[in-house]
Amino acid sequence: MAFEGLADRLQSTIKKITGKGKVSEQDVKEMTREVRLALLEADVNFKVVKDLIKRIKERAVGQEVMESLTPGQQVIKVVKEELTELMGGEQSKIAVADRSPTVIMMVGLQGAGKTTTTGKLANLLRKKHNRSPLLAACDVYRPAAIQQLETLGTQLNMPVFSMGTEANPVDIATKAIEKAKEEHNDYVIIDTAGRLHIDNELMDELQNIKSSVKPDEIFLVVDSMTGQDAVNVAESFNEQLDITGVVLTKLDGDTRGGAALSIKAVTDKPIKFAGMGEKLDQLEAFHPERMASRILG
Ligand code: GDP
Repeated sequence: MAFEGLADRLQSTIKKITGKGKVSEQDVKEMTREVRLALLEADVNFKVVKDLIKRIKERAVGQEVMESLTPGQQVIKVVKEELTELMGGEQSKIAVADRSPTVIMMVGLQGAGKTTTTGKLANLLRKKHNRSPLLAACDVYRPAAIQQLETLGTQLNMPVFSMGTEANPVDIATKAIEKAKEEHNDYVIIDTAGRLHIDNELMDELQNIKSSVKPDEIFLVVDSMTGQDAVNVAESFNEQLDITGVVLTKLDGDTRGGAALSIKAVTDKPIKFAGMGEKLDQLEAFHPERMASRILG
């Protein structure tokens, strides 16, 4: 499971301080040093760790904490609140356009889980929000990608709009939205092309789609197993496309968790969903507080 190493380390660090009737500055210092090492080992961005530790220290050695009845618990509360804040604080909701359909554009590198997540998100919107999405196949470079989306559509019994591999992705996206209006689909989820690496051609195409369809959400799908790379990818996509949120996939794997803990701080964009497996019902709304609780035990 994700975060296992980090959780183990933080929990054992915390155990040392939990029972303390009095927490000295030295205790806080030792604890923050261990928290710092645990976070760095979990591949959390260096600067993110530095800022976080500074805030924990400032708050944990404060007067209020020292005079409280259970100082150990208070310090842990500070760590938990700061971890929650780091991951985005409040859970972030999905947009609903004033006028239907709401348009969501899915972007990301090849293999991140974009197409799978497109299907999962459609499934979640129908099950949890009672919506009827239409999926648009805009990855025209890989015939298999269109096929993959169509298969997902069949599995979910949901419409997939495609125009084959010869059409222009901007046209496909625009026509998919027209189709959704005709058929009263209230969400359009656009699956775009990915590449193995970020390149200008890819970004140009995504920018063209963006400026033509004016999506209500642009979700960047990133593979949490790729650690700091995921953070760099998020930074680039955000600079070029001004994304509205992130979907972290493969959190069911043994990722160290660094991406989950750094992306919000680095991009200032919320993690909206987490992929927890390959199945179509394995996408969850990302709850920073629950995730922090899970990490801290
Ligand atoms: P794309 O190239 O970005 O469209 O990626 P795909 O949607 O084809 O996914 C690539 C692989 O990752 C597939 O084998 C998916 O089943 C797998 N995958 C996607 N999301 C998750 C997840 O949350 N957990 C796990 N374990 N596998 C995932």
